[in-house]
Amino acid sequence: MTQVRTRMAPSPTGEMHVGSMATLLKNYAFAKKYGGQFILRIEDTDKVREVEGGVAAIQEIIHRYGLDWDEGPGKGGEFGPYIQSERLGIYKEKVQDLLEKDKAYYCFCSKERLASVKEEQMANKQAPHYDRHCRSLSKEDAQKRVAAGEEYVIRLKVPEDQEISFTDLLRGEITFNSNLIDDQVLLKSDGYPTYHLAVVIDDNLMKISHIMRGEEWISSTPKHVLLYQAFGWSVPVFAHIPLFLNPDGKGKMSKRKGTVSAASFLEKGYLPEAMLNFFMILGWAKKDQEEIISLDEYIQEFEPSDLSSNSVAFDLKKLDWLNGVYIRKLSFGQLKEKIKPFIAREFPAEKIDQVLPLIQERLVTLADFNQLTKFFYSKINYEADLLLKKADSKELVVEELKQTIELLESLSIWSLHNLEEGIRGLQEKKDWHRGQFFMMLRIAVTGEKATPPLFETMMVIGKELVIFRLKEAINKLA
Ligand code: GLU
Repeated sequence: MTQVRTRMAPSPTGEMHVGSMATLLKNYAFAKKYGGQFILRIEDTDKVREVEGGVAAIQEIIHRYGLDWDEGPGKGGEFGPYIQSERLGIYKEKVQDLLEKDKAYYCFCSKERLASVKEEQMANKQAPHYDRHCRSLSKEDAQKRVAAGEEYVIRLKVPEDQEISFTDLLRGEITFNSNLIDDQVLLKSDGYPTYHLAVVIDDNLMKISHIMRGEEWISSTPKHVLLYQAFGWSVPVFAHIPLFLNPDGKGKMSKRKGTVSAASFLEKGYLPEAMLNFFMILGWAKKDQEEIISLDEYIQEFEPSDLSSNSVAFDLKKLDWLNGVYIRKLSFGQLKEKIKPFIAREFPAEKIDQVLPLIQERLVTLADFNQLTKFFYSKINYEADLLLKKADSKELVVEELKQTIELLESLSIWSLHNLEEGIRGLQEKKDWHRGQFFMMLRIAVTGEKATPPLFETMMVIGKELVIFRLKEAINKLA
């Protein structure tokens, strides 16, 4: 079997999309499965759309997701450089090959001419395409104009009426008629290659065996196949991966419906391990249907041909569930480390060791920390009516509060044991309605209906503040 070499080829034009990260994971896992290499290549030939710091951001986000590449920027490798803007000489040389083989031609059409051709085609309800005006220029004429310094691009000479086929691991054989394909620009007037030229040259020179990329590139693939053929190169295996749909299942996942960048999900408090696991089960299932999958298990089992060719929704409920599962798997030390960036400045740092175990069960994302812990330190706010739920009378509630305060004040040692024994004893002795009493107490102490276990919570809040809050509750009822 040929050496498996996969690649991810992002362009530094903005933050990496979760869909790209999911595709990257597939390329990574497939290479690992077969003991091959996963290559990171930066496709930065569109200097207009490039964003500052884009290349570094790509590398950083891959690392934050816990993944890495075998060859690429910062790593080197036998087939470098791995940044396309550093490979311009290679593209120029290769494109000469195509000119010599008569598979490509110089085009001197001005922007104005191209615009008017397009306008006319549109007016005639034709799909805009290059009218092949320069295709018939003789090589000698073209050379003379180049030598005279005229501006040019180089275009692919797309053969007429030819069937172009390629195999897609998800969809089987796909065939396009070449008449539908424009004479694509390969080399731009600024000497930069277009995506189509650079991607084919690099995938070939970097010995990429399998190309797994988003399905939005399917329509580009016949152009690439033509280029492989023009160069006389063998065509790699393709797998075009369906795009994610928005969480509501409608339309492809887009910024207008919420966050889409791989970084933003980490900033919202999703764990990279949970994100990766989520990517794994979108459109693919393990043979035993288990949904919690480690990276190693995925590497062992993943096959691109088992991927669904249907788009699936980016189901946030499922992601929340998975994230909770992964949060609960963390050791105390791991959670403490990971949650650090999410902790509000006002949170009393000395309480973290006591608080974390109390809320670990209830965290959906790391960012939930503040919402779940606010009442431990900041002023609480709630409707007085909440204190009266299920109560026979306001007077009784006030009585319950007063006696609880008295009890707490009498405790010489503020311990979980004393709290539990004292308060439970009081409730039983007085025969107060248990549900009513403890719900009322929870509200008075925390302002919330759902909290970690009450006595543990009281322990953390401390005697002084608990008593203060119980007195406040009495005031609220006055
Ligand atoms: N540079 C392209 C992108 O930004 C790569 C597409 C491909 O994988 O061929 O997605």
